[in-house]
Amino acid sequence: MFQVPQHIRPIRDKVRRFVDEEVIPHEQELDTGEPGVRPLVRELMAKARAQGLWALGHPKELGGGGLPFLDYAYVNEVIGRTHAAQLVLGTESLQTAIMLHQHASPAWKEKVLRPLVDGDFSVSFAATEPDVAGSDPTGMQTTGVLDGDQWVINGRKWFISLLAHARYVVVWCRTEGDAAPLHKRFSMIIVPKDAPGLKIGRDMDILGLGGVLSGHYELEFDHVRVPAANLIGQRGAGFTMGQDRLGPGRIYHCMRWLGIAQRAFDIMCDRVNRRMIRGKPLAAKGMVQKQVFDSFTEIQQARLMVLDAAAKIDAGSQARVEISAIKEVCPNMAHRVVDRAIQVHGAMGLSQDTPLQRMYRGIRVGRFVDGPDEVHIERAARHILDIYAQGESWDFGLR
Ligand SMILES: Cc1cc2nc3c(=O)[nH]c(=O)nc-3n(C[C@H](O)[C@H](O)[C@H](O)COP(=O)(O)OP(=O)(O)OC[C@H]3O[C@@H](n4cnc5c(N)ncnc54)[C@H](O)[C@@H]3O)c2cc1C
Repeated sequence: MFQVPQHIRPIRDKVRRFVDEEVIPHEQELDTGEPGVRPLVRELMAKARAQGLWALGHPKELGGGGLPFLDYAYVNEVIGRTHAAQLVLGTESLQTAIMLHQHASPAWKEKVLRPLVDGDFSVSFAATEPDVAGSDPTGMQTTGVLDGDQWVINGRKWFISLLAHARYVVVWCRTEGDAAPLHKRFSMIIVPKDAPGLKIGRDMDILGLGGVLSGHYELEFDHVRVPAANLIGQRGAGFTMGQDRLGPGRIYHCMRWLGIAQRAFDIMCDRVNRRMIRGKPLAAKGMVQKQVFDSFTEIQQARLMVLDAAAKIDAGSQARVEISAIKEVCPNMAHRVVDRAIQVHGAMGLSQDTPLQRMYRGIRVGRFVDGPDEVHIERAARHILDIYAQGESWDFGLR
């Protein structure tokens, strides 16, 4: 039941071959961002497109592959084998594309969606702020005030991904004042990157995201004016749209972290079978077997949890507890598995002779993106305890 379904194996195998044969051989170059690497990315994107592997999870009517949610979850497991595959295969824009597809006006869809899915440009999503919000979007200070037929936006954001190649930024801001209920005070407004008053600040240098994965910027909105029609969805609906944007996307993130763990596990098992210590393979040592065993059980547990959450989402549930649980479990699990793989390699594990040091750096961001561990732990625990407070129980067999 939890194995990859037969019908998805051919396309998943094809993506895996592409990642292993076309992307992984270039991962060092893609990671360093030496001049000339952008043309390489474009070349790889074109190859992916030519092989029918581009934007497989985007809706078909927008030019994507139209793979159903669960099928695409299994594909993300192999996309995760190396960080840059996400970019090369057009997966990065998926969450924003789906949000715009669901909520943007026909005019905005026409203008933005198809070129976004085609990879012509990206659209950044700006929520996090340096002064207050981040984990807690209800603290967001950036404001959007309607002045006649224009929104006037003021505030600061940071760590905004994909900005280097963006033409637009979707800004999550406070539009409704303090009288509205807390979760109805925010809206999403789309702003062209070249709008007067929008200042692009530092490119934040983030651990593990060098080269083609770099580019997470600070933004300042200083009386930025855009037409009223740049509102995405309804006024006050920003919070719900923001949460909806993240739910299924977290399944894809988690499947990719499982992909990193799987690759580290492969590298670890291969190494300990071959490396000889005092005439015997390292694999004969009990403490090494324990590292393999712990990694096996942790990957297996995390994978079953992710597939369970994915099946619930597919059946129409928001699976909030399960999503928070996997969002905490998966990056921590992958971090430990990569760490063990490094340990059994000795010094070589820290060097450029394996991809492990890059994977180790790369996985750390997972504990922050789409909410830090603590927020998810608190959210899941609170929800479970509320159920008990109401006199019910969390019956694992029935949930
Ligand atoms: C690679 C990368 C890309 C990103 N891209 C984007 C982007 O495109 N757009 C965007 O808007 N944002 C982006 N972010 C920002 C990301 O969403 C935030 O980092 C995240 O939401 C956490 O917010 P914060 O960094 O402000 O941490 P804070 O909210 O300041 O929290 C700091 C720490 O406090 C602790 N903490 C927080 N809440 C609780 C709690 N309830 N209980 C106990 N402890 C708690 C946690 O340890 C947390 O790490 C990106 C971040 C990274 C690393």
